[in-house]
Amino acid sequence: MENVIDIKGIIRNFQLGQETVYVLKGIDLEIKRGDYIAIMGPSGSGKSTLMNLLGCLDTPTDGTYNLNGNDVSKMTDDELAEIRNKEIGFVFQTFNLLPRTTALDNVALPMVYAGTSKKDRNARAEEVLADVGLADRMDHKPNQLSGGQRQRVAVGRALVNKPSIILADEPTGNLDSKTSLEIMQLFDDIHAAGNTVILVTHEEEVAAHAHRVIRLRDGMVESDVRNR
Ligand code: ADP
Ligand code: MG
Repeated sequence: MENVIDIKGIIRNFQLGQETVYVLKGIDLEIKRGDYIAIMGPSGSGKSTLMNLLGCLDTPTDGTYNLNGNDVSKMTDDELAEIRNKEIGFVFQTFNLLPRTTALDNVALPMVYAGTSKKDRNARAEEVLADVGLADRMDHKPNQLSGGQRQRVAVGRALVNKPSIILADEPTGNLDSKTSLEIMQLFDDIHAAGNTVILVTHEEEVAAHAHRVIRLRDGMVESDVRNR
């Protein structure tokens, strides 16, 4: 199978005044289309920094990042924004929905940036909301939804442009264990539909849903184990 992601020698430093903070210290990863990956590791080990790079929210200090064969490590901000909108679906721990906007409009938002017509946006957003189990919540605003329902909206928004990878940074971190399991069943379904899914978690039960577990420690890959 082809690699959807191929990163080599990724280094990410941050400059804090005079001090250089070395966060990612040389990461190589090949990820095949359709893989289902959990990234684990202690707090501060660089998981979110890596996810932000994979999601084209950030660029590396050094190293290369190939996404579907395109080197994104050298792209301009505009090119990155376009890749992000087309190729990446990102889910955050804190959902990051627009608070005054309905579930339907939150899910439709990435298609506004993509220039899709309103009629097509609404049709697609309705389809995606039905897929994530919210057919009866389309007109609800985030504060009218439970945490699990909010995360479903965020997952719908991530899926709406049919990205090549779905990234989720601690997507169950703010949810109770029953709701976490429901959200992980949703990620299982998304993976089963043929998507590449990469998520960060602290919890072994969550990671057990993935087929490959990558552990980071001090900005390096400590282990990379496939269990299915
Ligand atoms: P994790 O998600 O594994 O908890 P992070 O990737 O968020 O870890 O952070 C790893 C380390 O990088 C931490 O020590 C953090 O303080 C540092 N770091 C992350 N982003 C920045 C930044 N923008 N500026 C300075 N240091 C940062
Ligand atoms: Mg983090």
